[in-house]
Amino acid sequence: MVKSKKKHFSYYITLAIIAGFIIGLTLNLTHSQDLATYIKPFGVIFLRLLKMIIIPLIFSSVYMSVINLESVKNLASLGKYTLGYYFVTTSMAILSGIILVSFLGPGKGANLDISQKHTSSISESKENQKEKKPQELLSTVIQVFETAVPQNPIKAMVDGNIIQVIVFSLLLALVSLSSKEDAVGMISFTRSLEKISHHLTHAIMKVAPIGVFALIVNVVSSTGMNSLIYLGKYTLVVLLGLILHVTLLSVFISPKIKMSPLMFFKNISAVMLTAFSTSSSSATLPVTMSTLTEDFEVSEKTANFVLPLGATVNMDGTAIYVSISTIFIAQVYGIDLSISQLFLIFVTGSLAAIGTASVPGAGFITMGIVMGAVGVPLEGIQIVLAVERVLDMSRTVVNVVGDSVGAIFVDSLMKKRS
Ligand code: ASP
Repeated sequence: MVKSKKKHFSYYITLAIIAGFIIGLTLNLTHSQDLATYIKPFGVIFLRLLKMIIIPLIFSSVYMSVINLESVKNLASLGKYTLGYYFVTTSMAILSGIILVSFLGPGKGANLDISQKHTSSISESKENQKEKKPQELLSTVIQVFETAVPQNPIKAMVDGNIIQVIVFSLLLALVSLSSKEDAVGMISFTRSLEKISHHLTHAIMKVAPIGVFALIVNVVSSTGMNSLIYLGKYTLVVLLGLILHVTLLSVFISPKIKMSPLMFFKNISAVMLTAFSTSSSSATLPVTMSTLTEDFEVSEKTANFVLPLGATVNMDGTAIYVSISTIFIAQVYGIDLSISQLFLIFVTGSLAAIGTASVPGAGFITMGIVMGAVGVPLEGIQIVLAVERVLDMSRTVVNVVGDSVGAIFVDSLMKKRS
């Protein structure tokens, strides 16, 4: 896709989101949600098309990334920079979430019915707290590592298990590097698969405005605006945390790309809008990869490694969301969290963000790990359910911006090195 086409693409997607919002809200206010069922299939088909391309794209990109790096030493440097970036930014994200929600206290004194119903579970959870902490934490860490290794790579592909596909592609590429003559056929097949996957991505993106329109109509017509007003203060604190984080990232990366933060957002808008409407970092991955390599000149070998990995394990938006929501729910229940509990949120929240699948609503589920670890009643999750969808859309935008900034940053380090 050339740049002018990308500009048109962002323009049409923005129009599709605005139109989808207006029509969705009209259907909601006139109680005609049934009509949305005729529009919904276009969104479902668009999402399925994006998902269809993910596994061939990830397999071929990660494999070719290692082949193009040409040595294990280069891969080690790339891995080191990438993981270092993920660690620092996820920690920053979760810390800023904790600080914001603790100072602004959106749940303090909140008069939400649910806090009355479940007060009994507070003492129960407090009692279980000591036992649960180390077990939850340890089992989360062990599980992340254990399940990353596929028992059956074909099943991993069939199930769409991205992290397992990455591990398999990496291992296959590593042995191909060390026995190149035997891997000639494999390399040329995978190179071709990678190129064809990119062409298919571009073709799918041509119908994106229709798909995005249908997805937004579906969400807005079924949720409306009432829940946003009901949980206004909490929603605003989460959005503030997310906006602060992407602003910081854009200021950080701006000198590297010689672009103002505003220009950065403009150039990455196609990625942000796709993430917003699909609520899925992995469904957005094809767009992220083509935008970063074509518009930000990130080398393919970096983008092909950093972006698929980032879509799976680097979730700054989810980290912010999980920390703010857990502490908000604790505030609603009147639980005062100690410094050590806040530290536990920091550690488990980071792990939860790593373990969260890059699909809609996944962060909402993994939040249970963090709540369980610090003894916040799990039933409290219902309090934030009403605004979950809109916050999912918003945190996914931050997740993909985090991945994109990571790819640009790591690429600049790799270029300096060579
Ligand atoms: N939907 C998010 C993503 O795909 C994950 C989450 O639910 O936090 O990035």
